[in-house]
Amino acid sequence: MAKYEVKFSCGHTQIIELFGKDKDRQRKIEYFEEHGLCKNCYKAMMQEIEAHTPLGLTAQLNPLETYPFRAYFTGDTESVEDKVETLGFFWTDIGDSDILSTSEFMGWSCECKSSEELGKVFKEVKKVFPEIEIKFDFTEIDMALYKRLQEAQNDGKKQAAELQKKIDELEKPQRPDCYPEGNWNGRFYKAEKGYRRIYVNNKELLITEEDGQAIERFDKQVENYKLQVAAIKGDENAVKQLEKTAKIKELKEPEKPDCYPKGRWNERFYKAEKGYRRIYVDGKELLISEEDGQAIDDYLTALSEYEKAVENIKKECQ
Ligand SMILES: [Zn+2]
Repeated sequence: MAKYEVKFSCGHTQIIELFGKDKDRQRKIEYFEEHGLCKNCYKAMMQEIEAHTPLGLTAQLNPLETYPFRAYFTGDTESVEDKVETLGFFWTDIGDSDILSTSEFMGWSCECKSSEELGKVFKEVKKVFPEIEIKFDFTEIDMALYKRLQEAQNDGKKQAAELQKKIDELEKPQRPDCYPEGNWNGRFYKAEKGYRRIYVNNKELLITEEDGQAIERFDKQVENYKLQVAAIKGDENAVKQLEKTAKIKELKEPEKPDCYPKGRWNERFYKAEKGYRRIYVDGKELLISEEDGQAIDDYLTALSEYEKAVENIKKECQ
């Protein structure tokens, strides 16, 4: 890893960090000089794209909040700001509910206490912008919970507070510093040994294997966190999924004995002189003691039993 001062195609100079072989770094720098944009110009370009995206309205729902619904404008709001403001929308930061999200963005938004109120907002917005597309960015689980809490009326508030408390008590995964910032599809691609290749904002990046593993661990924690939140909100599938994971965790995966062959082995033993077994690892003949062979046998039996038990749990909870 090293730092380079690069003059981008937009004419601005910026210091960037590059990984990998020297030849690859030079290739990257050349690419940036010819086609790349500095951070500020990149941001401006994204805003420009937004400005040419048709106006849209997105509705969010968090059933546990006093104002459970929120609607916010997307796309080209700059040319219609006055109208948007008259509709009762405010310029605020739109906190993304997704804990994976690395982007915080500002927008025109409006909060509503009930679905009826949200419906009224839709009606008013459609009067001013008849062509606008409305998107719903929430799950059926959230909607069902919202209805349940509404029906419970005053007790619903108490229930909501209790559920929120349970969610607050969950351990929130901490995003590692190496987590990619920007638009990433969550996929890793092969790279030279010790590295992984990823694409962020359509640009190729190399990260170390160590960072890759930290990112994978975090993704798993997030998945588990989301399941726990969904289970608290009453998602039966999430409850089942968590039960399954807990049951599998209870099973102990057998430990590989130290004498287990290191390398490619077909798990077969061949006859040898008394007290020994013959095996082929990476195409080479090896002799192991009868004792070690027995230990490996026991391990393989325990492993296949373990795998069968895991399969059974997966099946029975489907
Ligand atoms: Zn620039």
